Amino acid sequence: MSVIDKFLHYVSFDTQSDEHSTTTPSTLKQLVLAQELVKELKEIGVSNAALDPNGIVYGEIEANAAGDAIGLIAHMDTASEMPGKDVRPRIVEHYDGGNIQLNEQYAMDADAFPELQAVIGDDIIVTDGNTLLGADDKAGIAIIMEAIEGIIKSNSPHGKIMIAFTPDEEVGRGTENFDLDRFKVDYAYTLDGSEIQNVDYQTFNAASAVINISGRAIHPGSAKGQMINAAAVAVDFASRLPQWERPEFTEGEEGFFHLLEMSGECDHAHLAYIIRDHNRQRFEEKKQLMKKIAETVNCLYNNCLTLEIRDQYYNLADAMNGDTRAVERAKDSLKACGIEPDSLPIRGGTDGAMLTWKGLITPNLGTGGGNFHGRYEFVSINKMNKMVEVITDMLKAKSAGK
Ligand SMILES: [Zn+2]
Repeated sequence: MSVIDKFLHYVSFDTQSDEHSTTTPSTLKQLVLAQELVKELKEIGVSNAALDPNGIVYGEIEANAAGDAIGLIAHMDTASEMPGKDVRPRIVEHYDGGNIQLNEQYAMDADAFPELQAVIGDDIIVTDGNTLLGADDKAGIAIIMEAIEGIIKSNSPHGKIMIAFTPDEEVGRGTENFDLDRFKVDYAYTLDGSEIQNVDYQTFNAASAVINISGRAIHPGSAKGQMINAAAVAVDFASRLPQWERPEFTEGEEGFFHLLEMSGECDHAHLAYIIRDHNRQRFEEKKQLMKKIAETVNCLYNNCLTLEIRDQYYNLADAMNGDTRAVERAKDSLKACGIEPDSLPIRGGTDGAMLTWKGLITPNLGTGGGNFHGRYEFVSINKMNKMVEVITDMLKAKSAGK
């Protein structure tokens, strides 16, 4: 089976995760793919491949030469925004840069999706417009499987290799039960990005903020000096945040406050935000500013507001402490395969950020997919093949002094 056959096989499994579930994994159907992956790993020679009680697939390939121990990680679940059942992939050969009609109702407009520019001339896989594709992250799984199959078959020299396929990345629980004692490597990679030249290691620092406001509802005819309108206080609070620091007005390394949800009436109101910034100091200042606004609003309106801020994750780069071995190795292999590597700060987080803060340095690599989480998702066959080449090069034991 080629990497494409593997990919088409994996997207035939419905592995949508569920943010409202409290079970582990969040949906049982993810285990069906997990069991299939264990079976396939064993078939290609990873005899110790196993599914752990938390729904994580682990496999270990012993070193046959001296070299760094490397981990490879991809996630099995798909996002909740679109169904992942009955995916009917279609191959568009030699994409010409034009619009792609997915079905009678939906077309992928080349102007609306600049990501397509990078795959002009490639054979690409698209959806039938009714589901997502699942390239996020089954392209990552297929690339890892193909690369290790090649390494084992060719018996080329390599250090220890660890593999993990995780559930529930899309619902923020991808590393919840990750067993670092079982996954002993020098460094690892998630294969969960888009463009393949990118070696991602700069992520956001992230926090969530929940605001609850208890008003004092009084008949509006006799409200003067008495009523506290919680909905109006919520509006006041929201308008005191810097309006230019919102996702829709920021890019690059600019952080933001994002109003996720808002509800309110005179008696009570509720706001939920996420706070993001690449820079740790600016991140702390953003949280501080929100606290100061809460304090001010409480002074004005009789202490009617509570604010709860919770840190979610921190910038991966800060946890690397200058250890760039993983990033350099990936960049060397990209170059060896004819790709000029790039490392732009990503406007999000990765499972690798969590793992790096737990002590395992884990940058993120691309898979050649794009427009994740929706009907316009696609993946380039050429780019997937290229990444198999890159990963194969990365796993090869490098001679001393390299
Ligand atoms: Zn993903």
